[in-house]
Amino acid sequence: MKILVADDDRLSLRLLEHALTQWGHQVVACADGEGAWRCLRQGGVSLVISDWQMPGMDGLDLTRKVRERGGPYTYVILLTGEEGREQFLTAMEAGIDDYLTKPVDLDELRARLAVGKRVLDLQEELRRALAVSEKLATTDALTGLLNRRTILKRGDEAFAQAIRQGYPLSVVMADIDHFKQVNDRHGHPVGDQVLAAVAGALHAGLRRYDLLGRYGGEEFLAILPGCAAVEVEAVAERMRKAVAEREVEFDGGMIRVTTSFGAASSGPDDLPHIANLIQLADDALYRAKARGRNCVECHGAISTAKTVSVEG
Ligand code: GH3
Ligand code: MG
Ligand code: MG
Repeated sequence: MKILVADDDRLSLRLLEHALTQWGHQVVACADGEGAWRCLRQGGVSLVISDWQMPGMDGLDLTRKVRERGGPYTYVILLTGEEGREQFLTAMEAGIDDYLTKPVDLDELRARLAVGKRVLDLQEELRRALAVSEKLATTDALTGLLNRRTILKRGDEAFAQAIRQGYPLSVVMADIDHFKQVNDRHGHPVGDQVLAAVAGALHAGLRRYDLLGRYGGEEFLAILPGCAAVEVEAVAERMRKAVAEREVEFDGGMIRVTTSFGAASSGPDDLPHIANLIQLADDALYRAKARGRNCVECHGAISTAKTVSVEG
């Protein structure tokens, strides 16, 4: 374990550092509370052994700061002197997990560290399990993209932020062309393989902060924060090419599919909800299908539409 020890008593600090190092721990030794807090903020420390009485920030102040910070759990063992019952209760309230009276009995310390490790291991297990279930709940198992519920939720948040901060946002809807034929000719498992490959191709051309989700069976939705109406066609065109060029190998040979795209962008006179933008992108996608598929249709920004109508 990486253990931080904070004690203003140099001798006690050296003793603890020596013992902990001997037991195989990585030790960060600090002579005061401020120094300890600075080291803790750098991360990586899972257990703290802190003296209560230190000049400046004392052990309780340090514990309170650790608890306020949140994040991965930090186990805190406080070293106490002659403090009475009232003060002990205050220390528990501040958030310590355990305490040891000075002078420290090293056997006792070792036993208490084992308890701390057990708690930390359980916390870590729980954190991992939560991360796994979060991933399962938010992603589509076949493609690894965000699922419909999550792309809509994140899209909604991204849209609200774009409006608040006054930057544009575009929405791109993609639908694989004649996908039913892929299933009919090659079977559902190959269809699944194609879906995953298309998802990968669509994803490859996007920026890190763009969002991509599986909106329906063979439909995908991309949300592009900061992408304006004048740029979205080029982005969708890049995605279209990426899909068209992707070869999917399977047992019986190789397939390529094409995709149709519909795009819509927010302008200065914004629509009240991202759902309207998605609807406009869907309408544009419908036109792309009607135009012959494997192409991009854009709705364009509201403001652009207005300018055009004034000029016209
Ligand atoms: P269009 O160009 O007009 O979009 O034609 P299409 O055949 O792609 O559209 P249609 O909506 O008629 O068919 C979509 C097909 O997608 C039908 C459905 O079986 C298939 N599909 C949906 N989800 C999955 C999936 O998870 N795996 C596989 N293999 N196929 C799927
Ligand atoms: Mg389709
Ligand atoms: Mg479809």
